[in-house]
Amino acid sequence: MTRIPPQPGILEIALYQGGQSKIEGMSDVVKLSSNENPFGTSEKTKAAFSRCVHSLHRYPSTDHAELRAAIGEQHDLDPERVICGVGSDEIIAFLCQAYAGPGDEVIHTRHGFAMYRISALAAGATPVEVDEVERTVDVDAILAGVTDRTRIVFLANPGNPTGTMIPEAETRRLAENLPDRVVLVLDAAYAEYVEGFDGGRALVDRHHNVVMTRTFSKIYGLGGLRVGWAFAAPEVIGVLNRVRSPFNLGQAQLETAEAAVRDQAFVTRCRAENTRLAAWLAGALTEAGVPTDPTFANFVLPRFADAAEAEACDAYLKSQGLIVRRVGGYKLPHALRITVGDEAACRRVAHAVRAFKEGAR
Ligand SMILES: *Cc1c(COP(=O)(O)O)cnc(C)c1O
Repeated sequence: MTRIPPQPGILEIALYQGGQSKIEGMSDVVKLSSNENPFGTSEKTKAAFSRCVHSLHRYPSTDHAELRAAIGEQHDLDPERVICGVGSDEIIAFLCQAYAGPGDEVIHTRHGFAMYRISALAAGATPVEVDEVERTVDVDAILAGVTDRTRIVFLANPGNPTGTMIPEAETRRLAENLPDRVVLVLDAAYAEYVEGFDGGRALVDRHHNVVMTRTFSKIYGLGGLRVGWAFAAPEVIGVLNRVRSPFNLGQAQLETAEAAVRDQAFVTRCRAENTRLAAWLAGALTEAGVPTDPTFANFVLPRFADAAEAEACDAYLKSQGLIVRRVGGYKLPHALRITVGDEAACRRVAHAVRAFKEGAR
């Protein structure tokens, strides 16, 4: 059937499933399936994007110096140690391409983000899954999974789709106990939702093999723009820049992301709203009879009796115009991942789950 065989591993990749955004025949739909910011993008960021219309004929900068400088200023870090990519997804791909190949192992955790496995396979490497405990990353399980062939460990903190988090002492213990030829990637896509959390950057300062990835897709509300970045040792940045294409980011992406990172007032407002609504929603769902862990991110993960009940609730929510995410692919078939929307959306989804549990089917 495969007349032109691709590289080994490629056909093992299960295509990434994006969050659904439409329901046939329904207009008043609320999309809570992709962890998007319900408040959109900040006004200053939109204004920056509008200005880009005048320079579309120009090639973008190849070194992203201005965006990296802005990131450096806002996060108090050395811009020489920053690389920008087409979402953090592209950085994950660079890491696999640069550090893992046939015969090498790439560790991810049981409920870890789908792109780790996809990018490892795309690079010809072997993804290795290690257990979590109660939907939470287990440092001992990761360390036990390390072999002579391990080249990369991927870990999202807070995790997606779990929303759980491990304390800094645990990520530090992991960094200190991994062989220093193994790259430890701390994916901090949701770091901004945790007040005072540095995403792991202090560990990057201490260990030459630790990389922190960040994104503009979540709290900055720029999922459609596709910009992410990483902070790492100069040696690692030098390697990743060699596999990055010079014009990976367009000028509109660069200028818009720069305006976004400079508007920290917007980030602070979104974090406060999310913290309040996430706690409310997790509580309301638990009360409705679907236990939900406290979350450190902008989504919750209510757990149903079994996969059939989760599927039935998903269908009921759709009939009510509410799109959430099934997470069977993340080994959580009995759960649904629900993005924390604005207040009206949170009330609507909590009300619908309660109605479903009370027998409205
Ligand atoms: C959303 C998300 C990302 C970000 O992906 P982008 O490519 O930057 O949009 C990365 N890691 C995790 C765990 C995520 O949930």
